[in-house]
Formats: sequence, structure tokens, C-alpha cells
Amino acid sequence: MTPRTLRQLVQTHAVSEGAGVTVHRSIGTPALKNLDPFLMLDHFGSDDPEEYIAGFPDHPHRGFVTFTYMLEGHMEHRDSMGNRGDLLPGGAQWMKAASGVIHSEMPRQTQGRMAGFQLWINLPAAEKMSDPAYQEFSPAAVPEVEEPGRKVRVLAGEYAGRRGVIQDPHTGALYLDVTLGPEQGFSQALPASHNAFVYVFEGSAATGGRDLPRHSLAVLGPGDGVEVIAGPAGARFILVAGQPLGEPVVQYGPFVMNTRQEIEQAFADYQAGRLVRARAAMTGS
Ligand code: FE
Repeated sequence: MTPRTLRQLVQTHAVSEGAGVTVHRSIGTPALKNLDPFLMLDHFGSDDPEEYIAGFPDHPHRGFVTFTYMLEGHMEHRDSMGNRGDLLPGGAQWMKAASGVIHSEMPRQTQGRMAGFQLWINLPAAEKMSDPAYQEFSPAAVPEVEEPGRKVRVLAGEYAGRRGVIQDPHTGALYLDVTLGPEQGFSQALPASHNAFVYVFEGSAATGGRDLPRHSLAVLGPGDGVEVIAGPAGARFILVAGQPLGEPVVQYGPFVMNTRQEIEQAFADYQAGRLVRARAAMTGS
């Protein structure tokens, strides 16, 4: 295995989203506009209800997938496909907005901590105007691999022969939540063609002798695997990888298409109430 090394460290930017929720964005900032096929990564985490209580009322998406992983708290999802979902700690949601979804993501708590990640995954041109789809999985449905000094939750892709619950067929995305004890190591094979990143959110870790500071996005360079070693207090991080699409990205707010005309069409469709074309059934458990 040729382990990947750290290529770029991206600091997060505090951004106000939805009706005034503070999120910490890494992919989708001036330092890293996107990491094909990933368009955006927001880490949200707050003990202060003022920072999350307003939630994300009805808003549109077109042209990509949103992947939400809850760490703490309780959010309720409702969408134009007719889905109502409860996002609970450890649960995950994959929403293929494709041709158009209008949804809301609202807190079901008025106190305590709310934390998680939202990742936007691009869709290939041929899929952008396809029917929406939705997968939601309860915390208990997510496979967990317990090894000495290590716990790995397999959200998407495969680890130690366990398959994740979420399939992202267009990018073959891997999405692992890894907890390591003090000084413990972790390694994983990664297809050489995939773009990959690590985001440490508890403790500290290093890869190839370089520190991976907490709350920074570490973009990995070329290679066919990754090795991470936890610091003296252990570490918890997400490891995400996916096949780049290699297509033009034209993004305007919640619409991500391949050309400017398609973005203008998305606005026109939204304003005329034509954004939502299809409802789709939910899969999950
Ligand atoms: Fe949304």
C-alpha cells in the first residue's frame, strides 16, 4: 500500500445557514471550492440553542445529493417527496435531490447539544434531472466494527468486510466514522482514483508524520490507502472518499449544475413552482 499523505489543510469558516444556524464549512470555501465529487462539508456543533433553534425551514435543492450524519441531538426532516424523517445521534440520511426537492430540517429539541455533518455529493450530468430518492437509517442500522483500540461505524462503502448502509452509486463513496484509543492506528485501502479527506472532530491524530488538527479538513494526496495514528488522548474522525466526476461545476446556492443556463433554468423553475417534478419513495430502516 502507498499511503496517502496530507496534501492540504483547510480551516473551517463559520457561516450562517438556514434561518440562522452557525455551521463550520471547509469544502465550499475560497480555500477549497470543491473536492470533486464533494461540493460542501458543513460541521455543525453547538450547546447553545440560539445557534441552532431556527433550523433550516423549507428550501430547495437541485443537481446533487445531501448526506447528513447526526452525532448529537434530534432533527426532523420533511420533504416534497412526502418523507418525514427523524435524525438521531448516529443516524444517517442520503437525499438525492436530483431534479428538485424542497425540504426542511428542523431541530426537535430546545436545549442540549446538536452536532453532525452535512456533505454535498455531486451527481453526474446524466443524473442531475433524474427523479429524487431518499435513504434514511436509524443509528442501530449502521454497521459497527469493534476492534481493539478502535471502533469504526460504516456509513457508506466497506470496512473490514462490512458494507455501509448507504449506497452512493455514482461516486462509490466511502464514509467512515472512526474512533481510536490513545496512540492507536487505523488503515484503510482507498482506490487510487478517489479523492479523499479526513476531518478530526475529537482528540488529535496524524498521518504520514503530519498533524491533523481538530476541526480542520485534511485533503489527502495520491496513493492507494490511508494510515492514521491517534494522539495521546485518542481521536475521532470521519474518513470520506469518492470517485471524481470530472465534469464542469456551476453552483449557485442550493443549485449545482453543469452550465449557467441550467442554473438559470433552476431559478426559473423554482420561481414558477416547477422545481419539484417527482416524488419518490423512501428506503431505509
Ligand atoms: Fe437542505
